[in-house]
Amino acid sequence: MSESTLATPAETTIDKGHTSKYTRNNPYQSRVLVNKRLTGPESEKETIHIEMELEEGMTYTPGDALGVIPTNREEAVEAVLKALGFNGTERVLDHYKVEISFLEALTTRLAIGKLARGSVNQFAKLAGENVPEGLKKLLGAENRDAAEAYVWGREFIDLVTEFPGIVKQPQELFNILQRLTPRMYSIASSQLAHPGQVHMTVRVVRYNSHGQERQGVASGLLGERAPVGAVLPVFLHDNNNFRLPEDSNAPMIMIGPGTGIAPFRAFLEQRQVLGAKGDNWLFFGEQRSGSDYLYKDQFEGMHASGFLTNLHTAFSRDQEKKVYVQDRMRENAAELYAWLARGAYFYVCGDASRMAKDVELALLDAIAKGSNGTLEQANEYLATMKKQKRYQRDVY
Ligand SMILES: Cc1cc2nc3c(=O)[nH]c(=O)nc-3n(C[C@H](O)[C@H](O)[C@H](O)COP(=O)(O)OP(=O)(O)OC[C@H]3O[C@@H](n4cnc5c(N)ncnc54)[C@H](O)[C@@H]3O)c2cc1C
Repeated sequence: MSESTLATPAETTIDKGHTSKYTRNNPYQSRVLVNKRLTGPESEKETIHIEMELEEGMTYTPGDALGVIPTNREEAVEAVLKALGFNGTERVLDHYKVEISFLEALTTRLAIGKLARGSVNQFAKLAGENVPEGLKKLLGAENRDAAEAYVWGREFIDLVTEFPGIVKQPQELFNILQRLTPRMYSIASSQLAHPGQVHMTVRVVRYNSHGQERQGVASGLLGERAPVGAVLPVFLHDNNNFRLPEDSNAPMIMIGPGTGIAPFRAFLEQRQVLGAKGDNWLFFGEQRSGSDYLYKDQFEGMHASGFLTNLHTAFSRDQEKKVYVQDRMRENAAELYAWLARGAYFYVCGDASRMAKDVELALLDAIAKGSNGTLEQANEYLATMKKQKRYQRDVY
């Protein structure tokens, strides 16, 4: 496709958001076109690339997310039924007072995965006067820490197995458990590069806790129960706070370790198709280059052609001393500041708990050093960047 056929004003509007008649309450039933593992067999992580089909008229803008409506896996549902002594044919009213089977409720309506502290409290209320001693130690403000420690790594099945006989009616679960909610995934594709498709980069959450193998509800579904041809309910979700620069000549710096890479694949593909002239700088980080370098060929190809001006990777486990994206930023602080000084946009996507904070500190240091200023002045500089929408984060 040529640039002129694509760069219509409507398509280049940056904060357009999605168009679709489908919503989380009326999702689109989308077919899986591709589901492949990106990480090598020796990787400690299982990260997958999924391509799904979209109906005509469903459009999104790079930066948007795809909502996936998950179901609980059969084994998990069966285990809860067995522990509670029900068979699943019992009738219950769902959140909208629609009558469904208990099996359906456990599969599609109730969050039987990771346990919430509130669920423990609600569960105890059902026991009335007969709250078991062990459960009493998890209740009330004074036992908050103990309850937090208890729920960590546990699921509803652990609670009902440890304290049996408390749930008398299937309907009671609607008072105990939270709703099974959709999960968001940053869209990893540009629709201009992949008409009629939407791509995701998903880390399959798996862990062992309290002697059991566990998996994340939605990522487990995408990793194990979404082969090519499977149909999943999805919806497009706007994210107007995470958008390409309106000026296609503006330079952009993208920090996307792990699955944080997803929206930057979309950004880069979009700019590439549109023939945007702005410089692009990508920082990617993971554990090992041999097994964890997501979309390696694509990004190295973009770099080799000169479209991706700078590409810096940080593989923490490739050498004795761990190296992260923020270390690469520090090594390149002078150039980073030079890009900011000529109006670069700075984007961060991925882990909110540590990475995003470490990246912000490295950014502030680069600004302070580059401008010969104090950290306080660097903070003001960053505040101005935020106002100009030149510092955008999509962290989770
Ligand atoms: C805007 C946005 C964009 C996102 N984009 C992406 C993306 O591009 N790719 C992506 O993979 N994810 C992305 N996520 C995260 C994604 O939405 C899900 O949260 C993630 O896939 C986990 O969901 P799940 O249903 O698989 O796991 P859940 O069933 O929700 O379980 C996850 C929970 O399991 C528990 N847990 C995990 N590991 C352990 C452990 N070792 N020990 C004990 N407990 C543990 C934790 O409580 C954790 O919160 C994004 C989130 C948001 C909000």
